[in-house]
Amino acid sequence: MAELRVCALYPDLMNIYADRGNLLMLERRCAWRGIGFAVTAAGIGDAIDPDAHDLFYLGGGQDRDQRLCALDLVDTKRDALHAAAARGAIVLGVCGGFQLLGHRYELGEDEIPGLGLVDLQTIRSTDGSRLIGNVAIEVRLDQDAPPRVLAGFENHGGRTHLGAGAQPLGRVLKGHGNTGTSGFEGVLHGSVIGTYLHGPLLPKNAWLADWLIRRATGLDELDALDDELEDAAHASARRAAGV
Ligand code: GLN
Repeated sequence: MAELRVCALYPDLMNIYADRGNLLMLERRCAWRGIGFAVTAAGIGDAIDPDAHDLFYLGGGQDRDQRLCALDLVDTKRDALHAAAARGAIVLGVCGGFQLLGHRYELGEDEIPGLGLVDLQTIRSTDGSRLIGNVAIEVRLDQDAPPRVLAGFENHGGRTHLGAGAQPLGRVLKGHGNTGTSGFEGVLHGSVIGTYLHGPLLPKNAWLADWLIRRATGLDELDALDDELEDAAHASARRAAGV
């Protein structure tokens, strides 16, 4: 039986805006289709096995909690996450988690180290202003498929600047995105995905949950589900963003 093996990184510390809903969404959509689902929590000090999981999830967090997790990520998990990404396992970072995928997060004089999985860095604005609101982006994950919309909510003080070697996840339709001015949102690098979209992300965008399940399990096709509620949630998130 196919199985989706998820590693939830710091589920207690990096779980702002009910990011746990993202894991629940994956679990339910697997269960409804008879796909096995296993989730392993990895907290501070826990080593991780790069081959034991198909998807590594890192949610959002306050600067304070991010700092704690960042130091631990670099100390105990960086090599494993690089190995996992190199073999095509998905690494999904949301908001604070997205920021930690890059080289660093600068907060004035202070600096939080990143995993260096993607070429980007985040800088907190000097005036402390935050980019907050409903957001929608246009995304093309499969080159041969039409673009899709992701809708959600963002709230971040950091501005994320992509390096020359990094592709954004999408184009901002409404909202702020990575910097408020670049017109780009998130990052997509091989199987590493970062985004500022909370909401939580997956309950508002069931199509992305299914894309992740397909990609992580290697299943070609997934059984269709009755997505009336999920479609309504997506439509409502789009309406909120004005798209
Ligand atoms: N602490 C980070 C910032 O403010 C991320 C916040 C979040 O995860 N919502 O930029």
